[in-house]
This record gives sequence, C-alpha cells and structure tokens, in this order.
Amino acid sequence: MKQLTQITPEASTHWVGDGFPVRNLISIPRDARDTSPFLMLDFAGPYDFKPASAPRGVGEHPHRGFETVTIVYQGEVAHRDTSGNSGVIGPGDVQWMTAASGVLHEEFHSPAFTQKGGTLEMAQLWVNLPAREKMSAPRYQAILDAQIPAIALPKDAGSVRVIAGDYEGTKGPALTYSPINVWDLRLNTDHRVAFTLPEGWTTLVVVLRGQVAVGDMTIVIGQTAHFTRAGNAIAIKAEKDSLALLLSGKPLDEPIAHYGPFVMNTEKELSEAIDDFRSGRFGKLEHGY
Ligand code: MN
Repeated sequence: MKQLTQITPEASTHWVGDGFPVRNLISIPRDARDTSPFLMLDFAGPYDFKPASAPRGVGEHPHRGFETVTIVYQGEVAHRDTSGNSGVIGPGDVQWMTAASGVLHEEFHSPAFTQKGGTLEMAQLWVNLPAREKMSAPRYQAILDAQIPAIALPKDAGSVRVIAGDYEGTKGPALTYSPINVWDLRLNTDHRVAFTLPEGWTTLVVVLRGQVAVGDMTIVIGQTAHFTRAGNAIAIKAEKDSLALLLSGKPLDEPIAHYGPFVMNTEKELSEAIDDFRSGRFGKLEHGY
C-alpha cells in the first residue's frame, strides 16, 4: 500500500482576475518537488455570478514550459491563444493546453454564461513537461465530456472519469508527454474504494466536494492528500458524497525553476523566457472575438 504522507492545510480563496475565485490546492513553491509531474492545482468556486455584459476572467498572459488542464464542472470557460486555438468548454469538458515553448492566452467566462449568470465550478491543473519537451511546439486538446469514459466503481462506490491515463484497462483521451493518470472521481457516502496505481509514482487525492477518509484521517474540501511513491495501491472512503481528483504520475525528477507563468529547469531558461516575453517573441493575440 502507498501510505498517506501528508494532508495539506485547507486552502483559502483568492481571485484570479475578476472571474475565478480559487483555492490553491497544489502549490509550486510548497509542493512541486514532491508532486512531480504535477505543479499546481487551483479549484474555482462553486461561486454564483450574476448576469453581466462584460465577460469576467483573466486577460492576455503568457505560459512556457508546461501544460494547463482546465476541467469544468459548472459554468462555461472561453479560451483563445497565440497558437491559433480557441474554444468554449462547459460542464464535463476538459481543455488540455500545452504551452511548451510559449503561448499568450486569455481565459474568460463564455459570453453566454456571462449573460445568463450562474454557478462556476472548475479546476485548473498545471502539468510539468519533461526538459526535452519544454521548447516543443504548443498543442491544444479540446476534450468533450462525451469523449471521456466514465467507469462504474465496484459495489456502487461511485464512478471514475478517465481524463488521462489508464484505469483498469480503460484509457483516457488526453495525449500526455509523460505517463500520468488524471481521474475524476465521484464517490458515494460510506463506500470504500481501492485503486491500483504504479509503484514509484506520485499519488495525490484532491477533494473538491464532500469529504473522504484515508484510514482515520479525514480530508475535506480544499485539501490534498499526498501518498508515498512506494507501494501499488491506495484505499479511500467517502464520508460524504464526494467529488475528487486522483492524480498520479511518474516523477520527472528534473530541476524546477519557476517564475510566475514560466516553469523551466534552470534560472538561465527562466531569464530567456522573461526576455522572450518582454520582447514580444510569444506573438500577439488578435483582439476582439
Ligand atoms: Mn493561463
């Protein structure tokens, strides 16, 4: 068995732009050495937005050296980037954006969601890229709910949506640069479930709704459970009906140099990223939809 090593403190909420009230459940400075290849996870909402005319969100900003994975549970998010990709994703959909050598993008509520108002609930995960892929061309995968297999857990314990990786032979649609599992779990109260996971892999359980337990330790909304890399399974129990992300991956074990939206391997590469951004080498986002 993989053993529980820590439960992160309950995160408090801060705003990203004017669209995303987020709790930071995996943090680069605090966690990224232990959570490789996962760097960061922000969970936004659930938060009720009143109808409005101007979309709320985050304007043009860069990324280099990793991937941003946006998983929407409620509401709609629109994205547009300098590699020419754009799209709107809604409940159940996932946007897997590989920044790699660099993109500028913007992330807003969709115009339709803005006008209608409603509840926003979504997560954004940052997945690191292996050193050899950090300067590859950007890539964009719009993964719709219907493309994501949902597998029932034994004994009515809930279900697993396989966004990436492999759950008991069912493969997720996301193409990834290193071996990882991103599983979106629905767990039913008082059911216990065991997951088989690779020996040596990072393993994290992020609680987004409800409450789960590992042994006699309780993990509430806004907390992440970290497990040992040694061992090949975990067991968790839902203390309430819960929504959780199970993230596991083969650690990259490469140095991390981080500054804001750039995650590279060395300070020199970070300086280059900042220079390239400041001198306009990330391209230009055309304005107006
Ligand atoms: Mn971004």
